[in-house]
Amino acid sequence: MSTSSLAKPLRLLLLGAPGSGKGTQTSRLLKVFPKMQSVASGDLLRQQIKDKTSLGVLASSYITKGSLIPDELITKLLISYLAENCWLTPKSSWLLDGFPRTVNQGQILDHKLSSSDVNLNLVVELDVPESVILDRIENRFVHVPSGRIYNLKYNPPKVPGRDDITGEPLTKRPDDNVEVFAKRLQEYKRLVEPLKEYYANKNVLKTVSGETSDIIFPKLCDLIVNDFGAK
Ligand code: AMP
Repeated sequence: MSTSSLAKPLRLLLLGAPGSGKGTQTSRLLKVFPKMQSVASGDLLRQQIKDKTSLGVLASSYITKGSLIPDELITKLLISYLAENCWLTPKSSWLLDGFPRTVNQGQILDHKLSSSDVNLNLVVELDVPESVILDRIENRFVHVPSGRIYNLKYNPPKVPGRDDITGEPLTKRPDDNVEVFAKRLQEYKRLVEPLKEYYANKNVLKTVSGETSDIIFPKLCDLIVNDFGAK
């Protein structure tokens, strides 16, 4: 799909189970909508861990167990990121991946956004069958500094074990092993229903279903173009 412009600012949250392809959809969307920016809470945390910051050390103890970081810490990290990168301005378009994950996080974010006169205006849940997700996770590798994701079956790196752009090593996420992943999936299912209800009540929730990112992507683009695209 060629690049497209947005007629009005898009402030999008992607919801979806771990492994549902939020990262992949994000990279594809950024190519179509080059003016949009994105951030993934998991990537910010993994960078903190890599940099051995005090938040990183603390976050690591939660992430390796498959538990969520306390709301207070994650909201502080993400809201600082939004402010520092000038996203709290009415004209900017952006996408959040992985945050908010709880209603409490959603409320704190909304409070901050509305005080800057901006609000999330689209929340899309990626609905992918669990069997597909489990298969994906086994084969997933990540380039931590960029957040680029590879899949040994569907999207392998050009050189085994190396990022295509920088040549730096790829790593397996410590929380992508079977036991920890099962816990993350369970936790997702528990938390997503109230979060979906929260956004449904604000009339911003949509769902796209499919087994592959090639099926999901055009549906997601259509949603965006219909509501936010250049007329
Ligand atoms: P992700 O890359 O989105 O799967 O996130 C990896 C891990 O980071 C999660 O399993 C959590 O431990 C932590 N994390 C990421 N985002 C959040 C969030 N919004 N709230 C709490 N913990 C988070």
